[in-house]
Amino acid sequence: MSEFIPVFEPKLNGNEKKYLMQCIDSGWIGANGPFVKKLEDEFSLFCSQKYGSCVSSASGGLDITLRALKDLYKWEDFSEVIIPSFNIISSAQSCIYNKLKPVFVDAEDRTWNIDINKIEEVITKKTRAIILVHIYGLPCDINPILDIAKKYNLKVIEDAAQAHGQTYYNKKCGSFSDISVFSFFTNKHIASGEGGIILTSNEEILDKVNYYKNLCFTKDKFIHNDLGWNYRMTNLQAAVAYAQFEKVGETIKTKIELGSKYQELLKNIPAHLSCHKTEYAQNHYWIFGVVLNNDVKFDSKYVQNKLAQANIETRPFFYPIHKQPVLQKMGILDNIKRPVSENLYEKGFYIPMGLTLTDSKLEYISDKIKDLFRKS
Ligand SMILES: *Cc1c(COP(=O)(O)O)cnc(C)c1O
Repeated sequence: MSEFIPVFEPKLNGNEKKYLMQCIDSGWIGANGPFVKKLEDEFSLFCSQKYGSCVSSASGGLDITLRALKDLYKWEDFSEVIIPSFNIISSAQSCIYNKLKPVFVDAEDRTWNIDINKIEEVITKKTRAIILVHIYGLPCDINPILDIAKKYNLKVIEDAAQAHGQTYYNKKCGSFSDISVFSFFTNKHIASGEGGIILTSNEEILDKVNYYKNLCFTKDKFIHNDLGWNYRMTNLQAAVAYAQFEKVGETIKTKIELGSKYQELLKNIPAHLSCHKTEYAQNHYWIFGVVLNNDVKFDSKYVQNKLAQANIETRPFFYPIHKQPVLQKMGILDNIKRPVSENLYEKGFYIPMGLTLTDSKLEYISDKIKDLFRKS
């Protein structure tokens, strides 16, 4: 029996401690500190965008991104925004908070990203935007989506929360649209506990998101014309994120190595593994996913329980947004099936991908998974 193997462990062995001490020694712990500015300037440059705006989370970042776009481009209430159904709740939630209607498109089998062939069929006169999401470390097929956006005059927002430093045909994710959002949550490729950043090359959008994230303060301090949120990120978080940013290349290299090893170790199990590579990108393995084949007699819950008994932590895949009870309760769901997302949830799970995993642990995990199929 192995010691407990968590699904993720961050590696804080760079300048994190040094930069945090600089915050404390200088007294700059709040939102206007030098690391916030450095991160905004340098991370935007890294992603070929003009401006950055640090926020307290990517979810908050999406809230104010949609609010800014709705405002600037005068979208009516209940305008429609296309999002992948196989995704975290954040994008749908941000639509709803802004009185916009999320419209869900199924995933495709090979990459688990949005199925580009099913986008046009959901476009209506009310569609105003599409949110590109790069699922689990592999970019979606961006160019055809940009073509559709152009044809129907849709705004594009990139949710690159799982794709720091990732590229699509050698161009950085987060650079493909007017506005992109990254997360610095603990398990992301750049981690500060909580936090995120909005990137844009449009000054009007920048001004709007800075306004909304900061309680809609105006130059006349304490006089407010609108209500916003406090979505500011602290200098303490930015210090850690900046240190993590300095070694994001190393993090990605480690992730690709771990993912490649799993591919080799698990290649013969009756399951579909995370897609290693496409024509346009190498998977950066934000997570390593396993989707059981249809002829396997058990589901992902069974495997997760068995692995838990062997001290191996796993996580389920995203629950399809178009089936979320909260959205059902709000009466904003249709009855359309998105079979690929639904199958991914039933048959999919992900296995440990911490940055400190050793070869012997990888082998232990892979052996335990292979055992399950031997016995059945
Ligand atoms: C993590 C994640 C988010 C949410 O990020 P937070 O910073 O935790 O709010 C949003 N979208 C995707 C695709 C994510 O992976």
